[in-house]
Amino acid sequence: MGDVSRALLNTARNTVPEWRPAEAQQHLADDKPITLVDVREQTEWNEGYIPNAVHVPRGFLELRIEEAVPDKSAPVVLYCAGGVRSMLAGKTLQDMGYTDVISLAGGYTAWKAAGLPTVQPLTLNDAQRRRYSRHLVIPEVGEEGQAKLLQSKVLLIGAGGLGSPAAYYLAAAGVGTLGIIDNDVVDESNLQRQILHNTSRVGKLKVESAKETIQALNPDIKVNAINDRLTKENVLDIISGYDVILDGTDNFPTRYLLNDASVIARKPVVHGSVFRFEGQVTVFKPFDGPCYRCLFPEPPPPELAPNCAEAGVLGILPGTVGLLQATEVIKLLLGIGETLVGRLLAYDALTETFDELLLYRDPRCPACGENAHPEDLPTYEEICAVG
Ligand SMILES: [Zn+2]
Repeated sequence: MGDVSRALLNTARNTVPEWRPAEAQQHLADDKPITLVDVREQTEWNEGYIPNAVHVPRGFLELRIEEAVPDKSAPVVLYCAGGVRSMLAGKTLQDMGYTDVISLAGGYTAWKAAGLPTVQPLTLNDAQRRRYSRHLVIPEVGEEGQAKLLQSKVLLIGAGGLGSPAAYYLAAAGVGTLGIIDNDVVDESNLQRQILHNTSRVGKLKVESAKETIQALNPDIKVNAINDRLTKENVLDIISGYDVILDGTDNFPTRYLLNDASVIARKPVVHGSVFRFEGQVTVFKPFDGPCYRCLFPEPPPPELAPNCAEAGVLGILPGTVGLLQATEVIKLLLGIGETLVGRLLAYDALTETFDELLLYRDPRCPACGENAHPEDLPTYEEICAVG
């Protein structure tokens, strides 16, 4: 260290107080909110960090600290590897107007040596860092968020109009496991909108066609191709392994079956539907917001429930709606933004307008209400058989 560096460090030492690791841990355990800021480089952070720390590398400190700690009178504890860089960073924060800055004596090395808890972050390999580089520069995603996406599992009900664009973009975004359930084969009339499939795959199983397309785009993604339909017998088993479910069904039996099972298993469902030029999107997050039955307690009779084949759909519309659903999935997985829980977004392609409706839980809902027994609800087929 040169003379000037030493002088700088001494100046900082005189104004920035230090806490030893055990002392810091005690303060952090208190209820008083303290922001813990790790000022080390990305490669050091990747090796492990202190729980609940915010990462603001020293080189970005002046640019990013106000975003991380907006209140300049709030207590901030800074740490680096050994306690020198955090001391200098503390002086910088004081010069910026922060009044309660502490440096962790001995840094992360001393913290770890004292046997205090650390977090081992999930990290990306070089190829993943290149592929997802546009995510890594977004603070709300970053390396940690991308790693989280790669660990995530999303189930798509249907590899059709909504499932196609959603699955394609979720795969591109690096959602690590995509389950796709569909028991149909590719038909020529699907190709107007179901972009996972192509002309040469007519007659092939949709889930196989979907898997081929997704893996050509991103071989990193695991695709569980489930050539089946959801039934009362298999639904709980199938959905149990996934974090979020994207509902791309065009029929009421599956929609009700999925709703009741997702309430039982407490899995969020991103719901989408299309009709000619109109689409709707919402998120049913059990017990956080309404479920499908809070809005429509009973299924409509079959003659009042047309599907795409009967009603028709503008080919581009499911693209728009499916991608709105995929956006909600990503937000749920990352825990960012405001999701469509309790809000229904209604899209009209002809007027190019969005409307928003607020949705509420119904305390008398047969699936998620106060005395509900979703496991006892009859399936749509059972209702129709009785009818
Ligand atoms: Zn409900």
